[in-house]
Amino acid sequence: MKKKIPQTSELNGISLSEGIAIGKAFIYNDILTRDVSSYKIARKNIPYELKRIVTAIGDVKKELYKLGRSISHNVSSSDGSIFLAQKAMLEDASFLSEIHTELQKSLMNAEQVVKNVFRRYINRFSDATSETIKAKADDLRDILRKVLRNLMGINTSVLEKLPANAIVVTRRLLPSDTIHIDKRNVAGIVIQEGSVHSHSALLARSLSIPAACSDGKSLDFINEDDRIIVDGSSGSILCNPSSAMLTSYREKHRLLSGKQNRDTRIVKNHVKTSRGKTIIIYANASNHSEVSQAVLQGCDGIGLFRTESLYLESKTMPTEKELYDKLRHALAATENLKVTLRVLDIGGDKKLPYFDTGDPISPFLGLRGIRILLKNPDILSTQLKVFVRLGNKFNIRVLLPMITLAEEITTVRKMLDEYCQKYAPHRRKRMELGAMIETPAAVLAIDRIIKVSDFVSIGTNDLTQYVMAAGRESPEVASYFDKGAEHMFTMAKMVADAARKSGKECSVCGEMANDKLHLEHFVKAGISHFSVSPYRIPDLKRNIRNL
Ligand code: PEP
Ligand code: MG
Repeated sequence: MKKKIPQTSELNGISLSEGIAIGKAFIYNDILTRDVSSYKIARKNIPYELKRIVTAIGDVKKELYKLGRSISHNVSSSDGSIFLAQKAMLEDASFLSEIHTELQKSLMNAEQVVKNVFRRYINRFSDATSETIKAKADDLRDILRKVLRNLMGINTSVLEKLPANAIVVTRRLLPSDTIHIDKRNVAGIVIQEGSVHSHSALLARSLSIPAACSDGKSLDFINEDDRIIVDGSSGSILCNPSSAMLTSYREKHRLLSGKQNRDTRIVKNHVKTSRGKTIIIYANASNHSEVSQAVLQGCDGIGLFRTESLYLESKTMPTEKELYDKLRHALAATENLKVTLRVLDIGGDKKLPYFDTGDPISPFLGLRGIRILLKNPDILSTQLKVFVRLGNKFNIRVLLPMITLAEEITTVRKMLDEYCQKYAPHRRKRMELGAMIETPAAVLAIDRIIKVSDFVSIGTNDLTQYVMAAGRESPEVASYFDKGAEHMFTMAKMVADAARKSGKECSVCGEMANDKLHLEHFVKAGISHFSVSPYRIPDLKRNIRNL
């Protein structure tokens, strides 16, 4: 039973992620600390229990793969690799054979067997002195929890829906906790075990959530709803602070956020390299919260708004009104910043459950992006009408995915002009229309494409996939993406040269733009506009200034 200590107490912990958080304690007990059902099974049921385990592991592998890809896409490739490495751990053949042996020897249910085998591995890793090996124990705990949740049919974590201003207090936080945490409501994180090198500390820093570790000191005196201050810079954790302390920390918090705002205001629109070259930073976004985050980080605009998410969250094809309302809400924070709305890019890995593309044979090489839209002009015209109407409120431009031919752009241009005349007759400038350069054909036809486009944006994810003939969904050929980097720089130069000659803008919006190692090569190739995950903006600005 916890003892409530009303007076102020302070723990001098370790700083994990900068910033000050003031909020109320949300105590998180994870599934690993709870009892897992435990019962004996009959020998004849071994195959059944084994099948449950194999299915759960298969599901978790798929989940980790998807998570890894999406984090690489939206946060950074190094953060995404955490989950891809976890998937690789689950693929270790000796691991499954150990589970099989344990099942036969112990005749216990699937949950217990999994827990016992994982525990042995975890103990081996957590006893190590090296921080890197210790971090592996955290990965194993994370995987164990996912497998147990799957076996027990629990598919959401309480961390996904937190009360407002929550300070999550827990013994340990694992990478997937940090990534799934309700980012709107989490104010800060306090953990009892962990290090500044742990994956979750890394993710907390990427997501700018103030965090501290109490360094093994007991957190038992913190009760649910206690007022907590986390000073992520010093590592201090204050429980039930006095009103004087609260006032002083509120002031610190205010000054810090004021400084951040000033920083973003100062650098807004003119981040320069050390040699004085101006670089424009746009954000990639697909919903309200990413747009707001990007604006908060001082982006120069939205360089790629993926409209697919608005369709994927819908159960039927959105109507013009639904689409308009969703986008208006998503873009609310942009005010007069430039917003690049990409028309629906489905096909390939993105399928709408309620719409059959009519091409089941070659999802990546068949009907995709603009090809689907030109075959289904109703969907395209609904989108264009909505974009034109939104253009009366926001600073909108339109981007076309999967372009291979200049004619694809001119066809859409005619439609867009017609809707502009009809729905925005008082517009002074025509609405800009751009092309994604993400197929080798688009690079080779860049002179023709640039003539009929107002701007272009290089999508390195698809461009690498098509140039290296390496599927972006296929982990077996993931290394080809790194090996294809050189080709991307060469092609970026071709596209940037063509754009410069015709005075048009050329940006890079694929995942490679998130990686600081590629930045210098792209800048050398003549790229001065990047569009990245909102969470990467502060880092990117720092890297540009050091360039
Ligand atoms: C790309 O292909 O690089 C890109 C930005 O588009 P998406 O990842 O949405 O296909
Ligand atoms: Mg693409």
